[in-house]
Amino acid sequence: MNWFDLSGRTALVTGARSGLGRALACALAEAGADIVGLGSTPMPATAKQILATGRRFTEVVFDLARVSDLEEIVGETQADVGPLDILVNNAGVIRRAPVLDFQEEDWDAVMTVNLKAMFFLSQAVARRMVARGAEGRIINIASILSFQGGIRVPSYTASKHGVAGVTRLLANELAPHGITVNAIAPGYMETDNTEALRVDPARNRQILDRIPAGRWGRPEDLATAVLFLASPASSYVTGSVVAVDGGWLAR
Ligand code: NAP
Repeated sequence: MNWFDLSGRTALVTGARSGLGRALACALAEAGADIVGLGSTPMPATAKQILATGRRFTEVVFDLARVSDLEEIVGETQADVGPLDILVNNAGVIRRAPVLDFQEEDWDAVMTVNLKAMFFLSQAVARRMVARGAEGRIINIASILSFQGGIRVPSYTASKHGVAGVTRLLANELAPHGITVNAIAPGYMETDNTEALRVDPARNRQILDRIPAGRWGRPEDLATAVLFLASPASSYVTGSVVAVDGGWLAR
């Protein structure tokens, strides 16, 4: 048996246009899964990469801030591509400002996409997995700020602590239905999300000095973690948050 074979499965990956989401979608496709990429703008580069693996790719352009439409978009997506077996809640946003200046709109924008949409998309997908008795997989992208406070990112830290907690809650309630729910907590990865930190020489040096592995993570560093959590190899693993951080949290 190939423990990591995803042939015949379909995975919905949010935020698949760029960064970690594109790498996660490609890893799942290389293991045999068909991919639905969801994002607020089109993702031609992701489509090209997935199609090159020989798998099917379906694009869903949808703004996750429209939380009350999630149930409908999942219904429409399943009517188009068939049942979903794997959900990767990867889409996320970050707003940076000091505590004394932080604005309410930056709190709401981040909490809506990173936490509220994550929960209600999981609910909409899980309802359908339960109805058909599927062995489903839900994988949430958390952060090292699911464990630490960080600086200048209050809503991001709140949302990612929430992602870890809601991952455990979903795991508890969905385990009896054969659905596992886990999270991956990436460390400092080279994507658009961290560009502002990498172009600031002082901040870049501070971060690198604290990473035991001595380098920024690359999107591909998450590939084996997502394959493990998406595949039959992890059927007794649920409610865990797996750090892929070059040792940051151990320090
Ligand atoms: P990124 O390149 O900025 O990707 C974020 C993705 O989310 C984009 O593809 C974006 O697509 C999508 N997105 C944002 N708002 C959306 C909305 N309202 N509706 C639909 N899609 C939306 O950043 P990334 O680093 O790959 O981040 C991916 C995940 O990893 C996030 O949850 C982030 O918090 C987490 N993370 C990143 C790091 C890191 O160091 N990079 C570390 C820990 C955790 P569109 O713009 O096309 O909508």
